[in-house]
Amino acid sequence: VAFLPDWLSLHAERRPGRVALRSDHRAITYAELYAAARSMAARAFALGVRPGDRVGVMCHQGLMHALCLHALMLLRAVLVPLNWRLQPSELAYQLEDCGASFVLCDESAAPLASQVAGMVSRSVQTVVLSERAWEAEASHAEPASIASVDVSLPSVHAIVYTSGTTGRPKGAMITYQNHWYSAMASALQFGLDPDEHWLVPMPLFHVGGMGVLMRSLIYGTTAVVHDRFDAERVDRALASGEITLVSLVPTMLARILKLRRGPYPPRLRAILLGGAGCPRPVLERALELGLPVAQSYGLTETNTQVATIDLADALRKMGSSGRPLANTRIAVQGPDGPTTEPGVEGEILVQGPTVFAGYYNRKEETERALAGGWLHTGDIGRFDEEGFLYVLDRRADLIVSGGENVYPAEIESQMLALPGVVDAGVVGKPDDEWGQVPVAFVVLEPGKVLTDEMARALREELRARLAHYKVPAEIRQVDALPRTASGKLMRYEMRKWVMQG
Ligand code: AMP
Ligand code: MG
Ligand code: MG
Repeated sequence: VAFLPDWLSLHAERRPGRVALRSDHRAITYAELYAAARSMAARAFALGVRPGDRVGVMCHQGLMHALCLHALMLLRAVLVPLNWRLQPSELAYQLEDCGASFVLCDESAAPLASQVAGMVSRSVQTVVLSERAWEAEASHAEPASIASVDVSLPSVHAIVYTSGTTGRPKGAMITYQNHWYSAMASALQFGLDPDEHWLVPMPLFHVGGMGVLMRSLIYGTTAVVHDRFDAERVDRALASGEITLVSLVPTMLARILKLRRGPYPPRLRAILLGGAGCPRPVLERALELGLPVAQSYGLTETNTQVATIDLADALRKMGSSGRPLANTRIAVQGPDGPTTEPGVEGEILVQGPTVFAGYYNRKEETERALAGGWLHTGDIGRFDEEGFLYVLDRRADLIVSGGENVYPAEIESQMLALPGVVDAGVVGKPDDEWGQVPVAFVVLEPGKVLTDEMARALREELRARLAHYKVPAEIRQVDALPRTASGKLMRYEMRKWVMQG
């Protein structure tokens, strides 16, 4: 029988004094983390949280987020990490969808958490965690279900929301198996330093950040958490000689490079780039400085990276996302089915033990995503003669702005609801700072002209409905949008408009 141990209790017993989590102001050992997580799990159990329950977690503080993650694991409850950058209505939708009755939050996220909880039709209780959560107290009786129980590989660990191209967010179910194999593949790719210190200045509510917490836990090593990205602070941490691995999105690397004149200490083995393809000039500059950058390819539905390029190949294979990690198969959809034949362009397909278990409560979308035993990524790619993967286009329409996914359909549907707007189309525009920013084209009611004032008012309206990075940087008026006979927007035509200025 295949099962996984309860990692936290295992490490607390075998390496109690080792630091599990660190931020600038605090270091927490495995023994302390285990004690605090047990105490929090007991409190949550006393409130009514049971194994299998979906529980929202909304924390500005990374360490508090990590504590919630561990407490929920001890309870065998399902973590639903909440992106506090979203609008309350967007978050309420997620809680509604996954059926959560509890949200754990830290003090600074508490106002948003309770506002969101109040918008859900079911009763949702927010549990606010103060700094005292770190002082393990035996005030609640520990239920028998806590601790030292092995978990089965297919059990769901988390539900991570990802916006669909239809604009409707879907909850991707990430299993313990997904984490285990991600951790193994990563160790085989980068090797394992017994004193690993993996820095994560990325949000912990996406799989990229969650993956660093889970891998550090599985290895019994240290995760170093920065609550928000600050290029100088990351640069200082990497230069200190403590950090062995760091996960970044390309936008972050670009900012760090502005501060860098030379290499980092050799203890830093890899700068993992994920979430988007890194612009060529940024990669070139990083390699010039002797930085160990490793472009990877992955998505929420594969629980982070499934392909990574070796440093040795980075120059030679500039622009490639590398080769599949151990246990993973990648192919593209060819005319006669999945193929790895060089030069064939098609949708990227993934098979392997890090592919997710499906979308929560979305049978049809799950079947479509996993049709034929392959994950259909929606990305277009091709292989070269040596089996290196090139990701050609993010699923045609997706805009990635500062590492955050922006789905045109979601913005369009909000724009269509605005007074005077008859039709709307959104595409990405290259941007030096953010990688891409959304730009909107609108058709207005006959006779209406888009003045600066009206454009400002429209953006103001959108700001109330969408996360600020989703609000179009520009709104332009057109007579009509390019649509196919079936009414589908031809966004590649609109992208040409953007490039024409
Ligand atoms: P998410 O599911 O939010 O993690 O976003 C995953 C998406 O990011 C993928 O489907 C790709 O469109 C994009 N992406 C990730 N890695 C790369 C890469 N190496 N090159 C190009 N696009 C990427
Ligand atoms: Mg992303
Ligand atoms: Mg996605």
